[in-house]
Amino acid sequence: MPDILVAGGGPTGLLTAYELERAGLDVLVLERDARPTAQSKALAVQPRSVEVLADRGLLEAIEPYAEARVPAGHFSGVPIDYTDLPTRFPYQLGIEQAHIAAAIEARLRTPVLRGAAVTAVSQDGEGVTVTAGGRDHRAGWLVAADGGHSTVRTLLGAAFPGTSARVSLVVADLRLAGEPAGLADEWQLPSSTSGFLLPLSGGRHRVIIFGEEQQRLGRDAPVTAGELQRGLTAAHGPGIEVGEVLWASRFGDAARQLQRYRHGRVLFAGDAAHVHLPVGGQGLNLGLQDAVNLGWKLAAQVRGHAPSGLLDSYHDERHPIAARVLLSTRAQAVLGVPDPDASAVREIVTGLLAVPEARHAVALELSGIGITYPEVSGRAVDVPAALDGRAVLIGAPAPEGWTDRVEVRDGGDPRLVRPDGYVAWAGGPGLETALHRWFGPPSLNGHKAVA
Ligand SMILES: Cc1cc2nc3c(=O)[nH]c(=O)nc-3n(C[C@H](O)[C@H](O)[C@H](O)COP(=O)(O)OP(=O)(O)OC[C@H]3O[C@@H](n4cnc5c(N)ncnc54)[C@H](O)[C@@H]3O)c2cc1C
Repeated sequence: MPDILVAGGGPTGLLTAYELERAGLDVLVLERDARPTAQSKALAVQPRSVEVLADRGLLEAIEPYAEARVPAGHFSGVPIDYTDLPTRFPYQLGIEQAHIAAAIEARLRTPVLRGAAVTAVSQDGEGVTVTAGGRDHRAGWLVAADGGHSTVRTLLGAAFPGTSARVSLVVADLRLAGEPAGLADEWQLPSSTSGFLLPLSGGRHRVIIFGEEQQRLGRDAPVTAGELQRGLTAAHGPGIEVGEVLWASRFGDAARQLQRYRHGRVLFAGDAAHVHLPVGGQGLNLGLQDAVNLGWKLAAQVRGHAPSGLLDSYHDERHPIAARVLLSTRAQAVLGVPDPDASAVREIVTGLLAVPEARHAVALELSGIGITYPEVSGRAVDVPAALDGRAVLIGAPAPEGWTDRVEVRDGGDPRLVRPDGYVAWAGGPGLETALHRWFGPPSLNGHKAVA
């Protein structure tokens, strides 16, 4: 019997499984789809997520598939320069989400169980029983990472308040049959307010359109080549000819978030916990950061050394971050509305974002580099994560009783770095308090490791 079940083998579920396995737990991922998807919703990975992937040795696995490195983000299309961000990776990594999922899956010890759609969940004092693919699976805990239409969320009747979609957009990957001279062959930030086009490898293009026609058509209307042609011509002018459409889908600006990320022995992460308009490339990043925040806390809980409240700190730390992204993406959606009043606000906001301090504050937020939590002092940029999922202590003597949970390294400014890369202690008094707060009481195992 695995320690933990993960519903959903998207990027969030896979990275959570990876974090749990690194910490030595047995995990089983239950995935509805029979085969890994080749379709990628997300194309942009923000700098903080690039740091997280690099820290786990995953960046080198995905870099060969990178389409672009864009040294900027955008706020509803207003460029936000990233070049002065305090990170080794001051750029958005343009890469298809499917490559990230595949790289993480390749690292898992346990293969993902495919064709295993979750259809029932029950929990008791000892664990969780999940029916998936017609079979029952039992484990101590369930991580629900089954996406924006989460079945687990519905089965548990978890409240998912927020706003319904008001605008409709189309995403498609296609090949062009003709293009005007001078069409950019590099990634550029969106300049039109009704659609844009990004070149992808293999002669493909990613298209997003959000004109009047999309607002008239129903959410279930099939996307046709004609609709894409009209949308692209409106956004880019004449000369673009749509050829083969590889895949297409509609999406909207619904903004919803779970009130509680934890429901007993079920923890929600990624799109299952929060949905919003994917403007500015934020959703995948939220999911990846949820995964690294949750993984070590849940592992400590299963191992029995989690201090009181550690697991609940997952909700306490991550819920406000996604709430802020929902706020930001809702504001960005309004700025994009083709309406004179919205245009007036847009002009004012564009002016404000030209002020360096304002631009920098927004860059810190969009990139994830500015994300921090109330009880830590920011992230450690220069302390690679321990391979076995332990915390890292540098510049201080080995703390007897904790070395089963804390890897001790020589040199550097004194710091205790949590497994998700955030600094729990930065010199001075309070090391022992921080160890107790995040890693529980000292243990016999920890003493043995010192000896
Ligand atoms: C057009 C578009 C563009 C986007 N661009 C970006 C971007 O550039 N940057 C960014 O950061 N984000 C972007 N996003 C958002 C990003 O794609 C999502 O936030 C991301 O996919 C969330 O990952 P996830 O693993 O939480 O969910 P998902 O990727 O949805 O994965 C959920 C998994 O669960 C499986 N599943 C579903 N139901 C069940 C079930 N009952 N049982 C078992 N398995 C199940 C699914 O098959 C799927 O594999 C974009 C989204 C859209 C729509």
